[in-house]
Amino acid sequence: MNVKSNIKLVNDSLAQGCRLIAVSKTQPIEKLLEAYEAGQRIFGENKVQELESKHQALPKDIEWHLIGHLQTNKVKYIAPFVSLIHSVDSLKLLTEVNKQAIKNNRIIPCLLQVYIAKEETKFGLDENEVIELVTNFPAYLTNVTIDGLMGMASNTDNENQIQAEFKGLKKLFEQLKSVTHPSIRMKELSMGMSSDFELAMQEGSTLVRVGSAIFGTRNN
Ligand SMILES: *Cc1c(COP(=O)(O)O)cnc(C)c1O
Repeated sequence: MNVKSNIKLVNDSLAQGCRLIAVSKTQPIEKLLEAYEAGQRIFGENKVQELESKHQALPKDIEWHLIGHLQTNKVKYIAPFVSLIHSVDSLKLLTEVNKQAIKNNRIIPCLLQVYIAKEETKFGLDENEVIELVTNFPAYLTNVTIDGLMGMASNTDNENQIQAEFKGLKKLFEQLKSVTHPSIRMKELSMGMSSDFELAMQEGSTLVRVGSAIFGTRNN
């Protein structure tokens, strides 16, 4: 795999208003540097420890996104530097992110992860939980913003099903744009991975999370 040319290929295929998150989980630092040299500045990781060590090792103008499940007791490690947390799936977690954001004297932008797949194993809030949280946003959450929604489609070859899941998330996203709370800023829709990012862009994605199409298949 030639990381540099893959980065260019994916970037050239991006829809207007859509940004690429290079999902670099399990990849060695050298691979991330190749992507960096090709101009990539947003990287996504799904594990806190890996995010932390790569942040330390790499240039400081990189935006680090946490895309995987986040445990409350690990928020403190990424709170000083994380640019966007895609995987907020409970009020408990959001409350902890807020607490750590206050400690670090910053605002941490978050996305709410919405459960859209027809599978049992994926994390996320359901549609009603998202609406409830966003429309009754707790006043004590002073140091987090909800910048949008994230979803993962079913792991299936059925494009119609994937498309329907993306459409459903987009619809919820549009609906929530009418919420006028200053901490609710529905501007990012994080959907699409290597296998379905073109479909996701057709349905209005603003952030695609692409790993294997850039770095090659992972062993783990
Ligand atoms: C690994 C991962 C991706 C990227 O998957 P690829 O199929 O390698 O593009 C995207 N989003 C999340 C949440 C992931 O964990």
